[in-house]
Amino acid sequence: MNLQQLPPLSLYVHVPWCLRKCPYCDFNSHEKKGELPEGEYVEALVADLEAALPNVWGRRLHTVFIGGGTPSLFTPEAIDRLLVAVRTRIPVDPQAEITMEANPGTFEAQRFRGYREAGVTRLSVGVQSFSDASLAAIGRVHDSREARAALASALTIFPTVNADLMYALPGQSIDAALADVREAIAIGVPHVSAYHLTLEPDTHFHRFPPRLPDEDAAADMQVAIERTLARAGYEHYETSAFARPGQRARHNLNYWTFGDYIGIGAGAHAKISFQDRIVRESRIRKPASYLRAALAGDALDESREVAPAELPFEFMLNALRLVEGFPIALFAERTGLPITVVRRELEQAEGAGLLERDHLRIRPTGKGQRFLNDLLERFLPDGNRQPPPRAIRMVPRDTSRSS
Ligand code: SF4
Repeated sequence: MNLQQLPPLSLYVHVPWCLRKCPYCDFNSHEKKGELPEGEYVEALVADLEAALPNVWGRRLHTVFIGGGTPSLFTPEAIDRLLVAVRTRIPVDPQAEITMEANPGTFEAQRFRGYREAGVTRLSVGVQSFSDASLAAIGRVHDSREARAALASALTIFPTVNADLMYALPGQSIDAALADVREAIAIGVPHVSAYHLTLEPDTHFHRFPPRLPDEDAAADMQVAIERTLARAGYEHYETSAFARPGQRARHNLNYWTFGDYIGIGAGAHAKISFQDRIVRESRIRKPASYLRAALAGDALDESREVAPAELPFEFMLNALRLVEGFPIALFAERTGLPITVVRRELEQAEGAGLLERDHLRIRPTGKGQRFLNDLLERFLPDGNRQPPPRAIRMVPRDTSRSS
């Protein structure tokens, strides 16, 4: 492979604690017990970043995303220390989007102002639902009043705001799912992420499944949500993401266009391109072990070069989530491989009505969007044509999801 130019670079920061573990959550998040080691963790993050810098010398950050877990458990002072440390170690684009996740259960207007003063430009609020019954059914610690108050406050403080919603919740009707979406629209959030609740292995809900709407009902909800948001002027630009014009999540767009990202914090993942290779890294997952290792200068759990044969699938896994697909030239730009390496797969997917293309772009059809996994499977490397890994069998997740 031979990359003519390196892609844009982002930074993801993981904060691995929550007030309580939600029963559906398989993220690397841990229930907070006692005081958080906030100061030590920020120190560890900075040491982790310093260890990562030699791989990205000379490059600048276009976006930063502080996710979790629940980063809003950290004080504004800690977030400020972190962002100052980032800016003094790596150039940050003056127009950089700096997103932070917040949960309504940790909401205080004063804290929100502090995060904004620290440089956060976009708050992503884990609302999930405005129905107290639904929130209780999915074990959330906040109620609908806190969710409304957090969004209303965020909208007055941050240049842009995302609300995460979930649908196909236990006992939820289409009308109830739409009521959540309508409320988010009425409150005026410019970006909505709507995720289908799924039962992931190693979660409480997987062991004790609640009664969920069946697949047909969930599919109807999805269509109704998409229509409602479209009528209200939101562009459906990625599987689960909807934005008013000009309000798309730039950090996530960098993932979906197969950009690069440094990942620091417990369990964080990174993807870094070099002219002749692409490397994926992950950090140690357990917070206590991560803290020790990062402070000692090596928090890496795994680092591996992505084999060129895996790159087409990895690229498609991201880019085909975009409703508008991708410019054909981007494939070679990001993978260093000619688009002809997937000629057969593209033809077959087109023949099955899952893809459409012209001389400029490749995009999933409506059918391809609905059956995204069927479409993606076609790009798995030869000899590996089996169901895709769990990470893509579930509804795609990303860091736009506040939790
Ligand atoms: S869903 Fe979010 S708030 Fe709940 S445990 Fe997971 S990361 Fe924490």
